[in-house]
Amino acid sequence: MKYIAILGSTGSIGTQTLEVVRAQQDIKVTALSAGDNIDLLEQQIREFRPALAAVKTEEKAKELALRISDLNIPVLSGMDGLMAVACEKKAEVLVTAIVGMLGIRPTIAAIEAGKDIALANKETLVTAGHIIMPLAKKCGVRILPVDSEHSAIFQSLNGEKEHGNKIDKILLTASGGPFRGMSREELSQVRLEDALKHPNWVMGRKITIDSATLVNKGLEVMEARWLFGVEMDQVQVVVQPQSVIHSMVEYEDGAVIAQLGTPDMKLPIQYALYYPERRFLAGDRLDFAKLAQITFEAPDFENFHGLSLAYKAGRRGGTLPTVFNAANERAVQKFLDREIGYLTITDMIEAAMEHHTVKENPTVEEILAAEQETYDFIESRW
Ligand code: NDP
Repeated sequence: MKYIAILGSTGSIGTQTLEVVRAQQDIKVTALSAGDNIDLLEQQIREFRPALAAVKTEEKAKELALRISDLNIPVLSGMDGLMAVACEKKAEVLVTAIVGMLGIRPTIAAIEAGKDIALANKETLVTAGHIIMPLAKKCGVRILPVDSEHSAIFQSLNGEKEHGNKIDKILLTASGGPFRGMSREELSQVRLEDALKHPNWVMGRKITIDSATLVNKGLEVMEARWLFGVEMDQVQVVVQPQSVIHSMVEYEDGAVIAQLGTPDMKLPIQYALYYPERRFLAGDRLDFAKLAQITFEAPDFENFHGLSLAYKAGRRGGTLPTVFNAANERAVQKFLDREIGYLTITDMIEAAMEHHTVKENPTVEEILAAEQETYDFIESRW
């Protein structure tokens, strides 16, 4: 039996993780956490019977506790709740499917408690990779990528690192999102509804917008840099609109190894949960005879300025990736609330980065202070 805990069980990754659990016989969920969606969390608790649950606010915790009073399962709230879920005694793996920098502290606590991390919450590595990766090494725990691209890279590295083979380049694929090929003029006209329509993947709202701006790809470049111990400039983004190749690794001898598949997040989730074992997963398979073509192009750094800003933030390091991420978070929220236009998202990120004085090698407190400072800056300017 494998025991897992999930941060963000009501979200897109969280619910798909539970689908994987449902299909397997030898995995047990010991702790679940959600934000506001206590209706869904209640259903999940009744189905999976974890040892504890957590929600965002004390008010919601009380309401949920009342609803499940027949089950004798404690319901916690806030950061204490996230920490308790992250460190639940029996869990061997923590799935970090929460969104934002809120994931940093619970992820650190889980690593210190000796849990492997199935990492979806990329913001944790983007902003605190310099803390997380050495800590994981020190504690002897594994950081197993859930992001499909990073899982593809991880799979393409299988056996190579053990033989001492060096990565020359990581080729991180991108679909290009719904606005690929558009001019700046056209981009100034796009609507929220258009941005929420990803051509290949069904995801949470925030990451769907990040995919449309290519900010998500920028975050993934920074995530890859920490996960695989390479320089920012060794990670090259390749647009591959069909989302068939999930990413590739180029070795010193010029060989390129890739992982391909249909776009289904359950594959990387299951691979992370059972690594290094592969198990049957129901679903569509690639049909190469029907697949008309796989095409490639370079990303448009000019019109998708968020990607250039991500490279700038990642190369500079320190607190700048935090500012990039926090400014984007606020900007996307404003775009989702129809307060700003699409192009203002990257304008906000750029202004926040220019305004910030970078702190080198920041502590968790300094990262969270930079996050708050960025939120305040955005509120004062827009
Ligand atoms: P969703 O928005 O769908 O889900 C987020 C989860 O976090 C929900 O369970 C939500 O709870 C919970 N949550 C949000 N705010 C709080 C809070 N303040 N306190 C406690 N819980 C909170 O996000 P995704 O599943 O799309 O993404 C999760 C992470 O995975 C992100 O970092 C994303 O970048 C990454 N990722 C996602 C992919 C995808 O396909 N979706 C692919 C690769 C990576 P509730 O809904 O109950 O409020």
